[in-house]
Amino acid sequence: MEGYLKISFLNDFIFCPKSIYLHNIYDNFNAYAFNETPQIVGELKHKNIDQSSYSTRKDILQGLPIYSEKFKLAGKLDIFDKKKGSLIERKTKVKKVFTGYKYQLYAQYFCLKEMGFNVKSLCIYSLEDNKKYKIKLPDKKETKKFTNFIKKIENFEPSSCRLIKNKDKCANCIYASLCF
Ligand code: SF4
Repeated sequence: MEGYLKISFLNDFIFCPKSIYLHNIYDNFNAYAFNETPQIVGELKHKNIDQSSYSTRKDILQGLPIYSEKFKLAGKLDIFDKKKGSLIERKTKVKKVFTGYKYQLYAQYFCLKEMGFNVKSLCIYSLEDNKKYKIKLPDKKETKKFTNFIKKIENFEPSSCRLIKNKDKCANCIYASLCF
């Protein structure tokens, strides 16, 4: 799957382009050495999805590997209800629906569409407070924005990154101690 962009990187790129390069560098290390507690909780909850412990119903797909040739994206979906056509992305706690969250769902949507599934609705589910956030299916305008965003990542040159550290972002970044 070389040359494919990980769907999970989309949100990271918006947070800080530099973080996806740090993520790649430390990808082979033990994640627990670098992740803070909220990330670990999130990963464990996602593990349940990978191990298909959420549901045994045949019309519910969990942790299915997905890809898009058109966008050169690859990853895993969270939950897809084939019968209802609903695609759900679970997060530990959602305080605000960030563009990155929306784009992760769009990415899953485009992958599933390309793979021949009929996706009718998108939703982000906040586990800790049990809240659901409906996301509209991408229309023409949103699809164009998403396409341009993917191109921006593809064309991003790490050496040209003149990112000035942002106090608030860096304080919450798991790579802060590794970033220079
Ligand atoms: S510490 Fe700051 S500059 Fe470095 S990767 Fe994190 S957000 Fe980006």
